[in-house]
Amino acid sequence: MSIYLKNAAYIDWKTLEFKQGHIKVFEGPNRGIEWIPSPDHIPEMPGKGEPNTIIDCKGKWITKSFGCGHHHVYSALARGMPAPKKIPANFHEILQYIWWALDKCLDPQMIEASALATAVACAKHGVTFVIDHHSSPFSIENSLKIIADAFDKIGISHLLCCEMSDRDGETPSQKGLEETGNFLKNGGQGLVGLHASFTVGNDLLQKAVKLAETYNSGIHIHAAEDPIDPDSCLRDHGVRVIQRLHAAGALTFKKTILGHCLHLDENEKELVRNSPVYIAQNTESNLNNNVGVFDSRGFNTDHILLGTDGMHSDMLRSAKAAFLVGQSSGADSPETIYKRFRNVHKYLQENNFTGDSENNLVILDYDSPTDMTPENFYGHFIFGLESLHIESVISKGKLIVRDRKILTIDEQETLDFSKIMAKRLWKCLK
Ligand SMILES: [Zn+2]
Repeated sequence: MSIYLKNAAYIDWKTLEFKQGHIKVFEGPNRGIEWIPSPDHIPEMPGKGEPNTIIDCKGKWITKSFGCGHHHVYSALARGMPAPKKIPANFHEILQYIWWALDKCLDPQMIEASALATAVACAKHGVTFVIDHHSSPFSIENSLKIIADAFDKIGISHLLCCEMSDRDGETPSQKGLEETGNFLKNGGQGLVGLHASFTVGNDLLQKAVKLAETYNSGIHIHAAEDPIDPDSCLRDHGVRVIQRLHAAGALTFKKTILGHCLHLDENEKELVRNSPVYIAQNTESNLNNNVGVFDSRGFNTDHILLGTDGMHSDMLRSAKAAFLVGQSSGADSPETIYKRFRNVHKYLQENNFTGDSENNLVILDYDSPTDMTPENFYGHFIFGLESLHIESVISKGKLIVRDRKILTIDEQETLDFSKIMAKRLWKCLK
C-alpha cells in the first residue's frame, strides 16, 4: 500500500525549490518518494492488498517533516503539577525540587504514559523523529524499550538514551550502564546518556565513553547549561566542562550531542568547533530556567540542532524562539535558523540512523496574505508557518495524522491513561 499525494505543491527542504505535481510515497523505514506524471498513474488498488491512500493536496503545501534534537519524555506528566516543597531560587534548586523529585517517582507505567503523550504531541506537531534524553533513576530497567515501543505504536522514530549520573548513588549509575548496554546490544537506536558534568564522577564518565566506543555510539549530555556546571568542574577537576569531556574522549564521537553549551569560554568553543560533535540549542528552556541565552557565535553553525528540552513538542515554536533570542547577538537570521532547524536531518543521515528519510512529510494548510516563494520562504518560516497549519503527517511512508487527528492510536484513551498516571505521580511528590 502506498500514499499518493495529488496536486502537490512540494517544498524541497534542502534546496527550497518549489515543485508542482503528484507524489507517490513509499512505506518503510528507509524509503523515499517518487514523482509521477499524472493522476492517471495512481492505481486505486495495488493488487490484492488494501486500497492506496490518495490525498488531494490542492491548495496545500508539502515538505519534509521535522525532528527534535533534544527532548525529555520523562517530563511529560509535569504539566500543571503542584508547586514543589520549596520554591527554587536557582537552577540547582529547580533540579533538586522539581525534576529530581519527579524522576525518582517514575515507574514503568508512568514512563509508558509519558512516552505515549510525548509521541502524540510530536505527531500532531509534525515531528516524526525525536532524540530523547530519559531519566527515571529508580525505574531504569527496560525504560528505553518502554519508550521505544510507545513511540513505535504512534509511528515516531527515535534515538534514545538513559540519563546517567552519580546523584543517587552507585546503584542507579550501574543500572543505567546496564540498561544502555542492553539496549544498544539488542539493536536499539541509542546514545550513551549522562546528566551533566557536575553530577557525573570520573569513573562513570570513563565507563560511559567506553560504552560509546564499544557500540560505535556517542554521548548525549547537558553541557554548561548553568554556571554551576563550569564552577563545579573547576573546583572538582581543575578544568572547565568541555576540557573535561574532551580529555575523557567524549568529543571524539560524531554522534555526541552536547545540550545547551551556554557557559563556555573561547577555548572550549574552539574545542567544540574542532570536534565532530553537535550542540542542541533549547532556547525556551534556558529562558524558563533563567540560566542565560545561547549565543551561536564561535560554533560551527552546521552542527547546531534545535530541541525543546521537554518543554513542549513544537519544533516550529523552538525555531521562532531561537530566532528571537538570536537577535541580541545579531548572529542569527531567518535563514540561519531555518538551516539550524533542519540540521537534525543532517546529523541523523551522517550517522546512518534510520527513520528520517524522504518519506517523512507534513501537509500544511497554510493560507498566507502574501505569496510564498523560494526567495521569501525564510520570512514565511519565521513569521508565518505555525503548528496550526499542520493538517496531516506522514512518518516512514505511513499516514499517522490526517486532518489533525491521530490515526495510529485512540488519542482519547492515551490522554485518559496519562491523566491517571499523572495523578499517581503527583501523589508520590507529596
Ligand atoms: Zn535537557
